[in-house]
Amino acid sequence: MKLKHFALFLLLVAASVMAQAPAASQGENQQPAPPPAIKSFDLSAIDKSVDPCTDFYQYACGNWIRNNPIPSDQVRWARSFSLLQERNRYLLWQNLDVASKDPRTASQKQYGDYFAACMNTGLIDKNGVQAIQPALKEISGLKDARDLAPLVGELAAAGSPVQLFRFGVQQDQKDSSRQIASIGQAGLSLPDRDYYLLDRFAAIRKQYVEHMTRMFTLAGDTPEQAAKEADAVLKIETALAKASTSRTELRDPEKRYHIYTVADFQKLAPDFNFSAYFSGVKVGHFDTLNVATPDFFKAINELTASEPVDSWKSYLRWHTLTESAQGLPKAFRDEDFSFFGKVLAGQKEPTPRWRLCTAMTDQALGESVGQDWVKQNFPPAAKASMDQLVAALEKSLAADIKTLPWMSDDTKKAAEEKLAMFRNKIGYPEKWRDYSALKVERDNFLGNTERNTIFERNYNLNKLGKPVDEKEWGMTPPTVNAYYSSSMNDINFPAGILQPPFFDPNIDPAVNFGGIGVVIGHEMTHGFDDQGSKFDGKGNLREWQTADDRKKFVERTDCEVDEYGGFEAAPAHDDMPQQKLNGKLTLGENTADNGGLRIAYMALLSTLADQGKTIEDKIDGYSAKQRFFLGFAQVWCENQTEQSSRQRALTDPHSPGRWRVNGSVQNFDEFGNAFGCTKGQPMYPVNSCRVW
Ligand SMILES: [Zn+2]
Repeated sequence: MKLKHFALFLLLVAASVMAQAPAASQGENQQPAPPPAIKSFDLSAIDKSVDPCTDFYQYACGNWIRNNPIPSDQVRWARSFSLLQERNRYLLWQNLDVASKDPRTASQKQYGDYFAACMNTGLIDKNGVQAIQPALKEISGLKDARDLAPLVGELAAAGSPVQLFRFGVQQDQKDSSRQIASIGQAGLSLPDRDYYLLDRFAAIRKQYVEHMTRMFTLAGDTPEQAAKEADAVLKIETALAKASTSRTELRDPEKRYHIYTVADFQKLAPDFNFSAYFSGVKVGHFDTLNVATPDFFKAINELTASEPVDSWKSYLRWHTLTESAQGLPKAFRDEDFSFFGKVLAGQKEPTPRWRLCTAMTDQALGESVGQDWVKQNFPPAAKASMDQLVAALEKSLAADIKTLPWMSDDTKKAAEEKLAMFRNKIGYPEKWRDYSALKVERDNFLGNTERNTIFERNYNLNKLGKPVDEKEWGMTPPTVNAYYSSSMNDINFPAGILQPPFFDPNIDPAVNFGGIGVVIGHEMTHGFDDQGSKFDGKGNLREWQTADDRKKFVERTDCEVDEYGGFEAAPAHDDMPQQKLNGKLTLGENTADNGGLRIAYMALLSTLADQGKTIEDKIDGYSAKQRFFLGFAQVWCENQTEQSSRQRALTDPHSPGRWRVNGSVQNFDEFGNAFGCTKGQPMYPVNSCRVW
């Protein structure tokens, strides 16, 4: 599945691995079952044999981790996120299943048909590769590498998922009121450039080539031809990987901001006819655009000259096959799973089709399926309590800024101004999107995904030069996640996460503040992390800290870079070296976790005071302050395959659950106080880090 949104959002968790865990074999037909109830506070998860001051995560989650192995069709299993995601998907599946059999409205008919077409593997198997024949035929007609640009444009115009680079419209980082064209690197199949470049992944690259060879063979090529094609693809992708900017570098907004005139941009890649591409995708006229990664386009130009036209055909043919695998016969789906699921992620069984199709329908028609879902699962009272919680957190963050020991008054004033300009979006959009122009056919799965790709691209490209729609959402209502957008300066909480165990109207405030409270604080702190702090309240990339404060800010964030960079993501194993976290890649998320924990705790204190309660009041043997930290930790109880842990260490800006918990509590004195730890114990270090 493609990336729906071009703009960069700072999420609470990485997007679901569903997109990379394609499916098929005996597990594909597994039927949905009602998910178990999720406890908001789970005493039975706690491992009392562990000292909370030595390893709090193990204390809060140890028994849960032992008793909840990863299901065979998952690569990561998290107590709160996975269970709630399963529940939301199951409820959504029920709606889709009904709509696919007995639709009552035009929109139910549309999403019911979308879902039904995805579920119809019998028809998909029968159709063979017929659905992608037009694209393959166009590709085989390429005569000269100089015709690559118009061909890529034509494929895009026809809804092909092939993406040699990303192109779309987004807010200008330095003038957020403007929506401009933007172009940047893409075009790889493996999870990160490192998979192409580091020695430790040599064995995976070998398996990747074997996988491509089998996919080409399934598509009808001779084994010799297929092997040659696979080698050509790896060569082009490796060159693209070398020319790609690392994820860590891309965290710096200045490094992804280069305004070019169209003419100057074309000079970066004179042999790649971008105007032919732009007219292919039918974007309106523009004179300038943001080129996020200029070097990448220089490399594309060199490759169009150096690589034979047959290699480019193989590259486009490969991307057509791999990106369409879910709409191809079972042999393709099985083969796709064997590499992207098993080898890369350690998943044992394919993702059941019902779950895949529910997620795909949600992604394609989210604000249509979401309307019914919200009516059933997000009562107005929940929205009202959420408004109160957000207000409490905003008050805490304002108080936190006022008392920051390291920041000058001028910078504090600027920070408070930015905070006051936050916009809060809770639950679901005020205004729903209209999908009526999207044609959906009940018997044509790939046709639907192609038309959806075109529909979404047109929706995005139509924003060019228009005013920004501040009410727009970047996530669908049933999503278990949240985000902050630095260009919009808004925090967004879909109805999907405003559910137990994150947000439970029937539990004490301590647990709710440890759950959804920290989530809200996390998103707010993103406005002030290593990236967010570079944007002002209007969403413009502009320094508002004094030079001296920025220096102190960096000293403080460097403390977190060192702290988290020392944590292990995966142990040394066979011929794999130990994998540590990348402290710079995860800096923004870690800062948000630390800030979120602190301001949620402060908000809990004032909420309890308002209610005439105290932080020492006990329930089930734990004081409110202990329940706050336990509630926070239990959000992150999880098991993960080693392959997935390694992949995420390179690609995911979020730290794994263990370090989200231990990394944050060890920086916060109130944790040590709550559990009676003494200075110097692992969870109560002498020199802890603090940014916000
Ligand atoms: Zn985040």
